[in-house]
Amino acid sequence: MNPIRKFLFQCPACEKLHHSRLDAEDCCPQEADQTMCWECGECGELHHDEDKARYCCLDEDIILPATPMQLEAAGQQRLPL
Ligand SMILES: [Zn+2]
Ligand SMILES: [Zn+2]
Repeated sequence: MNPIRKFLFQCPACEKLHHSRLDAEDCCPQEADQTMCWECGECGELHHDEDKARYCCLDEDIILPATPMQLEAAGQQRLPL
């Protein structure tokens, strides 16, 4: 399941994430920063790291192939970047 990219607003005071700038500014009286997050397609949990979101709900035995040789064995599947 691919993670979903989201643009959220993070309250700088308490680091809570909000879906709109207004919500974030209601949270604490500080200007919120827009931040890019990744939402796990399975459970909807938000992560700052795309890989964390991608592997959030996967079994622990499924991990990224670590070496070029393993990549070749896996059929040279490369993600378009
Ligand atoms: Zn806050
Ligand atoms: Zn998840």
